[in-house]
Parts: sequence; structure tokens; C-alpha cells
Amino acid sequence: FQLMADLIKLQVFVAPHQAIEPEVAEKLCDQHGFKFEREKREKGAGVHKVEEVFVEPEPEEDVPEDKLELRAPIITFMGHVDHGKTSLLDYVRNSRVAAGEAGGITQHIGAYGVKDDQGRPITLLDTPGHAIFSKMRARGADITDIVVLVVAADDGIMPQTKEAIDHAKAAEKTIIVAVNKCDVAGADPTRVRTQLMEHGLTPVDFGGDIECVDVSAKTGAGMEDLLELLALQAEVLELSANPTANARAAVIEARVQAGKGATATVIVESGTLKVGMPFICGPFSGKIKSMLDDNGKPVKTAGPATPVELLGFAELPNVGDEVVEMESERAAKKLASERQGEKRNERLGGAQKSRLDDFMALAKGGPQKARLQLILKTDVQGSVGAITGAIEEIESDKVEARFIHAAAGSITESDILLASSANAVVIGFNTKVEGKAVQAAKREGVEIKLYSIVYELIDTVRDAMLGLLEPET
Ligand code: GDP
Repeated sequence: FQLMADLIKLQVFVAPHQAIEPEVAEKLCDQHGFKFEREKREKGAGVHKVEEVFVEPEPEEDVPEDKLELRAPIITFMGHVDHGKTSLLDYVRNSRVAAGEAGGITQHIGAYGVKDDQGRPITLLDTPGHAIFSKMRARGADITDIVVLVVAADDGIMPQTKEAIDHAKAAEKTIIVAVNKCDVAGADPTRVRTQLMEHGLTPVDFGGDIECVDVSAKTGAGMEDLLELLALQAEVLELSANPTANARAAVIEARVQAGKGATATVIVESGTLKVGMPFICGPFSGKIKSMLDDNGKPVKTAGPATPVELLGFAELPNVGDEVVEMESERAAKKLASERQGEKRNERLGGAQKSRLDDFMALAKGGPQKARLQLILKTDVQGSVGAITGAIEEIESDKVEARFIHAAAGSITESDILLASSANAVVIGFNTKVEGKAVQAAKREGVEIKLYSIVYELIDTVRDAMLGLLEPET
């Protein structure tokens, strides 16, 4: 009524729901101490509407101590083929089923949880090997806490054992060694320890800090010790997560299943997944329809380090993608459509990881020594030492070269994934690139340099380190 009275004073006669001229409104505002701002309209734009922007919540940093809860360690088994990774994983799974969950459906979901003798939880990834480990890391889902390096006591360290060591080291993971097949005649666990030392892993009983356990996947000997050690390491590493944070989980397996559609096994990194929760995963939105635990039983919630099979994806996600809780379905859908748009644009130019040329720029500026990470594959073992030796001798005060993996053999997909996760350049000397590796290199944007003349190889790396390389166009 006050406003009506004021309007009448201004000689404006309107009914309560009638619009007034902007000039009149401005006068009114002035009288009442408000600032009148006209809505800015684009030419042709009808209604003024605020464009809402939804972003993916960032992972929590600096979590208050009182919110942190201890969580299970997440374990990956690695090692040479036939050294017993699968058998060890099967042994642990089967012994647990026998110990109390008999009758439960053990279905393979890519990971499972067990407890050690004292009831401390451990999460085991059921897909052994360093390829998946580095693939996940290359995608930014670095969920493994501890690597169990499996070495057969009758065979000792073999090429893939070394590869696994290099992958675990490049990722700066805690390594625990399971010396397997100790039941076999001809098993020599002491020789394995000596070999480990030669590869820079000194066992505790040799005065170093690498825990080694003698085990047998056949008899089960030493298995409880192994589990206890894993649980203990988790305490040493003080692994914890905030179960009340915004939920994030990493996809470790994904498949389309009859009657279920696109499903994925995820491991919760932080927060708690709940049925009904809207989420974004890569460029797709979704809503958790249901969750199954590692026994195939439906669950309503899943906290940190728990593996669950998740239903409710619009499309099949990729291994290493993250499922991130969103505030609403609308927000998730909006962000998904934005990302799909971005993806279309991205196809024009692929991402490019570390390139030798970039070191020209690095070598020119910056007070800190840059590190040039290299992976070397050669025709014969003899060239490995010769080439790494020559490159390590190159002196540059700006760049330091470091071989994260050097071995004889062709360039494999696993080399590319390691390069991608560690931002390294792959160098081949008189060797081939496997077909899968070529594809992976394209996909991951990893640079492969091939040489057949030693001095050309060394000169190129030297020039890169001294900042003399002309960038390729
Ligand atoms: P992976 O390739 O590392 O996964 O190795 P597997 O688990 O498939 O094992 C390779 C072979 O070694 C299989 O035939 C197993 O039965 C056998 N094996 C694994 N662990 C042991 C063990 O502790 N003792 C004996 N005697 N055989 C084993």
C-alpha cells in the first residue's frame, strides 16, 4: 500500500498486479534507498535466464583428523607369468569362503575383501599384473597402496618380475615380496632374496626394508603371515579416508551383463556410495540403481576401500574412470552433456605426453633440475647396460635422465602404459613395437623413438638434455 501511495504521488495510477515503467521503478527505488539496475538483455534474447554451471566436486584435501577413519589397504599382485599370482588370490578367496561364508555365491567382481587373523580388513584386486596397474595410473586412478611381488622360489626373478618391480617403483608403492611355491622340490627362497638385492630390493632379513614372506599357494603355508603383514603395513602407512566426504570411486572392471546392462566394479576411494546417488563417470551421468558386494549380495552403502559392483550406468565406463557423486541428477546430466561436447572437440587433437623436444624448453629455464624419464627396450640384454650407462654419464645441470625401465625385448603395451603413467619417453634400440603398443601410444599420447645406431640414440637424448633439440613441427 505504501508503494501504491507513492505511485499516486508520482501521478501513476496502476492496479496491484500491473507492470510499471522502468523510469518509475527507478524513482521508487531511489525514494526507498535501493539501487535500481536494469536487466541487461542481449539483442534477440527473450527471457533473462542465469546459465547454471555444474562442476565435478574436487577430491577433498586437508581432511580434519576427526573425520578420518582407518581403511583397508588396496593390494595388487604382480610378478612373472606362472609364478602363482592367480593361485595365491584364489587361495585367499577360497579359504575365506570356507571360513564362514560357505554357501555364499563367490562371484568374480574384480576385487574382494578379506580379513587377517586379527580381523583387520584387506582389499585385494583380483586382476593381477602390472598392465592393469599402470593402465589405471595412466588414467589417474592410482588406487593401489601395496604391491605384492610374487616370485616363484624355483624360478627366481624373471623378465616380468623386473618389469613389475619397475612399475611399482615408478609408482612409489610399498612392495612386499611373496616368495611362492616354497613347497616345490628345488625351491630356493634364499636365492630369491639374493636376486632381489641385485634389483635394489633388500629384504629385511638381509638388513634392508623389504618384507619377504615364504608362501605356498598349494599348501597355504605362510598365507596368514602374508595377510597379517599387509594389514600391518596398512597401519604403518596410516591409510585413512573420510567416509562422509563427497563419494569418489575408481572403476576397476566394466562389462555389459545380460539383464543388468552396463555394470562396473568400483573401489571406493573416499566418501560412501549409496543406492539412489546421482553420479558422473567420465562423460556420462548415472544414478546408482543397486550395488552388489563381493559375495553377490545386495548392499545399500559402500564405504572407503570397499569393492562393489555398481548398476546404473548409462554407458559402459572405462577402467580407471572415476565415479563421482553429484548433488543432483540434473547437475550430473548437465555436466555429462558438457563433457560430451568437449570430447567431440578434443578428437581434433590428441593429448601429448612427455616429448623429448619439451626438454629444450625445460633445459632453458627453471631453477630446478627437470627429470627426463626414459624407458628403454633393446634387441639384446648386452645393449641395455651400454646405452643406460652412456646416457647416465651425460652431464647436464638442468636435466637429469632416469631410466624407469630398461630391458631387452619388443616395446609392449605395458611399456606404453608405464610411460603414460610416469610421463616417460619410450626409446627402442633395434627392436619392434608391438601392434597393441602402437595403438596404446596413439591413445595415450606417448612418444616412441626408434634407433638402430647407438650414437644417434645417445646424441638425441644428449641434445634433449642440453636443450639443443629443435622442436618438431
Ligand atoms: P600366474 O600366471 O602368476 O597367475 O600363475 P598361476 O597362479 O596361474 O600358477 C601357475 C601354475 O603354478 C599353476 O599350475 C599352479 O597350480 C602352480 N602353482 C601356483 N602356486 C603354486 C605353489 O605354491 N606350489 C605349487 N606346487 N604350484 C603352484
